[in-house]
Amino acid sequence: MVATPIGHLGDLSQRSITTLKQVQIIAAEDTRRTGVLLAHIGHEGCELASLHDHNEDSASPRLISRLQAGDSVALVSDAGTPLINDPGYRLLQLAWQSSIKVVPIPGPSAVITALSVCPLPSQPFRYVGFLAAKAVARRQQLQTWLQHPEAVVFFESPHRIRHTLEQLAEMTSRRIFLAREMTKQYETLMQGSAAELLAQLATPPKGEFVGIIESGEEMTQQFQHQQVMQILLQELSPAKAARLGAQICGVNKKELYELAMSMNPQPPKK
Ligand code: SAM
Repeated sequence: MVATPIGHLGDLSQRSITTLKQVQIIAAEDTRRTGVLLAHIGHEGCELASLHDHNEDSASPRLISRLQAGDSVALVSDAGTPLINDPGYRLLQLAWQSSIKVVPIPGPSAVITALSVCPLPSQPFRYVGFLAAKAVARRQQLQTWLQHPEAVVFFESPHRIRHTLEQLAEMTSRRIFLAREMTKQYETLMQGSAAELLAQLATPPKGEFVGIIESGEEMTQQFQHQQVMQILLQELSPAKAARLGAQICGVNKKELYELAMSMNPQPPKK
């Protein structure tokens, strides 16, 4: 499993280069992209096999046969560390099942690279990969994760990042870190509330993004209190909702009354 750069070719490690030059076959997500990397290290003309999301099931057993015949295979993805939201899991599973030695050749990954420069509290963190494409599903995912104190590390595409930030602006006051185009010419690191980031972000945004929602239990509690009060306010006046809410959440009723008033309560249903 050979990690490759997430932008800057200088980040390819010496061990990755040696490994790529030694193996008989390089299995690549996109053979053309890997060709550029191999040209960079002066290793054109080696045997390449295509292994991507749509052919993993058929390509993996073929590679296992080659391994069993004594060849060695390096797996690379388009960028970063294989299997981190990249293909290769099927091949890895089969290799383990066939008692074939698996060797990690570590290197860049957008997840760890973003965490390494994130100024917001982000330990422990939950890595969630790409958010759901549909807005409703994405809101549900975010709602679930925001109920937990862990920071949330996610990948996002340029055409969805604004929508995601708009949703987050409605859902949380936790701060967010955005790492755009890391290790590349237009690398940009930003932090702030979702609304602040929306104001900073170009329209339309360009490039690849990693987002990190800061960790925060107090914020999470605030969110839970809001959920409870939202339900109670449908049936009760703010004062009654605050009294009952205080018993449910185990907090001061004055705090919940103030929260209720900030939520712009409508008169309770008759
Ligand atoms: N396996 C890769 C890794 O370990 O970094 C991640 C692959 S995933 C298919 C690609 C996503 O990672 C992009 O859509 C983007 O969200 C993020 N990403 C990759 N390179 C990046 C970079 N240079 N700057 C910011 N985000 C990046």
